[in-house]
Amino acid sequence: MTEVRPFPARQLDVAGLNRQHLFDLAALPETVRATLDDTAGFSQLLLIGHGGRQLWECVQASGIGGSDPIDDYTRQTLAAWFARELPGSDYRIRYPGEVPVGLQALGELAGWHHPTPFRVGIDAEWGSWFAYRAAVLCTTPFSPFFRVDHSSPCATCDGRPCVSACPANALAGKDFDLDACLNWRMAPQSTCADTCRARLACPIGDEHRYDASQIRHSYGRSLDMLRHYLKR
Ligand code: SF4
Ligand code: SF4
Repeated sequence: MTEVRPFPARQLDVAGLNRQHLFDLAALPETVRATLDDTAGFSQLLLIGHGGRQLWECVQASGIGGSDPIDDYTRQTLAAWFARELPGSDYRIRYPGEVPVGLQALGELAGWHHPTPFRVGIDAEWGSWFAYRAAVLCTTPFSPFFRVDHSSPCATCDGRPCVSACPANALAGKDFDLDACLNWRMAPQSTCADTCRARLACPIGDEHRYDASQIRHSYGRSLDMLRHYLKR
């Protein structure tokens, strides 16, 4: 009989990878499972996220440099966690990696993700100040998690301050105006080159807001990628 023990979250929590959700692969919708590529040999998926500022503090304290310090730190932390909690157990990191994993779909299934007008996910606990850090194929003795049940803060938001805070007016219509956002982010005098003013204007989870250097890091990287793909 399979041993079932509580999920050992502490080492991950302390390291700033403080959101975890374990899925049974067989219970995932086929459309989501298909984004994980080949899952043969594994029965579970561990979705890892971070909420708030702690991860960035840990990454900086680790001294890891380079262009992807958060991803490198996440890989190292997961290797240490598997070695300690499940020595000898096989696992495969699908994200970060080359596979376009359906992270938001997984976040919805975990109960982490509710859509916002500015397209980043939100929940009542962390606001929009969380992100997906890893999706890991594995087989563990731990029971799959139940979906957390937080309702969407946007459903009861008075005045929707994020909408009027967007200088490109990208949130004013029924659908997010991606072109307006991209054009403004890449404009020479943009106030959104390394931030999102709509996201900053949202009051939910404000106590977990990333510090300025983390915001600059993540939005600076996304702008570099946009410039690379759009060749602008
Ligand atoms: S300001 Fe209101 S509508 Fe905008 S993301 Fe925050 S909760 Fe949602
Ligand atoms: S990045 Fe700037 S332009 Fe784009 S949605 Fe956020 S506030 Fe609007």
